[in-house]
Amino acid sequence: MSRDFDLLIVGGGLVGGSLALALRDTPLRVGIVEALTETQRLALAAGDRALALARGTVQILDRLGIWQDVAGKAMPIRHIHVSDRGRFGKTRLHAGEKGIDALGQVIVARTLEDRIAQELQGLDAELVCPARVIGLKAGPEAVCVTVKKGDECLNLTASLVVAADGGNSTVRKLLEIEQKVRDYQQTAIVTEVATEADVNFTAYERFTSAGPLALLPLERRKCSVVWTMENQDADELLSESDSNFTANLQTAFGYWLGKIQLASKRQGFPLKLIRAEKMADDRVLLIGNAMHQIHPVAGQGFNLGLRDAAFLAEQLSTRLAFNEDIGENAFLARYVRARQRDLANTIHFTDSLIRAFCTDFPPLALARNAALVALDCFPPAKRLLARHAMGYGFRL
Ligand SMILES: Cc1cc2nc3c(=O)[nH]c(=O)nc-3n(C[C@H](O)[C@H](O)[C@H](O)COP(=O)(O)OP(=O)(O)OC[C@H]3O[C@@H](n4cnc5c(N)ncnc54)[C@H](O)[C@@H]3O)c2cc1C
Repeated sequence: MSRDFDLLIVGGGLVGGSLALALRDTPLRVGIVEALTETQRLALAAGDRALALARGTVQILDRLGIWQDVAGKAMPIRHIHVSDRGRFGKTRLHAGEKGIDALGQVIVARTLEDRIAQELQGLDAELVCPARVIGLKAGPEAVCVTVKKGDECLNLTASLVVAADGGNSTVRKLLEIEQKVRDYQQTAIVTEVATEADVNFTAYERFTSAGPLALLPLERRKCSVVWTMENQDADELLSESDSNFTANLQTAFGYWLGKIQLASKRQGFPLKLIRAEKMADDRVLLIGNAMHQIHPVAGQGFNLGLRDAAFLAEQLSTRLAFNEDIGENAFLARYVRARQRDLANTIHFTDSLIRAFCTDFPPLALARNAALVALDCFPPAKRLLARHAMGYGFRL
């Protein structure tokens, strides 16, 4: 059977685009189906969210040849400061103590999306855009994918389809793969603030009575804010005037950075843990948010999705060296087994963070406060925290 592509990637966003870039030096015939035009993508407010990138993520982006071009727009995290509002405990981590330049980096998602989109234009891979997948049927040798592009319906075939089409994945729906959903009944309010004092490459995580509040350095005097709280509290705060919102934020955060001023619109993101029940189906794999959508409090979503893409690219290259079928079920099953641990650990870790820290239940609040004090006095525990922050990129 003749095939249009060896590999068809559905979704050319952060994760799908990175996969295509990771495969650029292989002989694979790659197709990418992307729903949004550049103009539509640029108009999305979600592009303003800041991404905290773990050191491991930066290394992967460097290998993909895109980090060098965006590094100047990213802000290194050299210090992490964790505190609990109204309590004594706080802890600090410093990159210098580890003999490294940065514990992680912060970048506006759109900057990375733009760079990936730009790089995709120069690939041999065929970009089918704007187009949406509307049908999918796996056969013994290939998958046939029906794509709607304008008024046209295209039938594309590929040995393997990789769904990287985000949390609302059409591919997952077409395959009728169920999802496990845990609704945290919380919303992350995301915005930016200008600060009076120099942020000095510091990421702040503060546990407030409303919920955890992260301030990530964007510029010398500008931070990205992610404030997670119960849906109802978020609705109320989102409907406040800018000045009332800022006053609430200032009270919750304190004056670690002097007076703060709102520097962008506020957006609310409802928080859910969504995990597809299967990572693979006949000749189809789910990666990135199409597979797992996790709470942004831990800043892990893209870091995890990029590890999916990087590992898959590595496995596909090995497979190619032996000239073997890249969509074979046994191969996909091995990929799935190999990714399970990272996925389970990351989800478990994020979930534990939320349970421990999104609470004002007194015994737990005291325990976390004691933990922060102990952490500051106990170098091995701090080292462990730093190792997580660097390798897995959680916002702590
Ligand atoms: C407030 C907030 C803060 C966050 N902070 C962090 C952080 O600090 N660190 C971190 O690592 N992660 C963070 N994340 C998570 C991160 O944004 C996601 O994990 C990441 O965007 C997932 O990338 P993706 O490519 O899988 O999905 P997406 O970014 O959603 O991309 C999906 C792509 O598929 C396309 N598409 C969709 N449907 C179709 C279709 N039917 N056909 C063709 N194309 C389609 C879309 O247009 C898009 O280009 C945060 C998320 C939020 C909401």
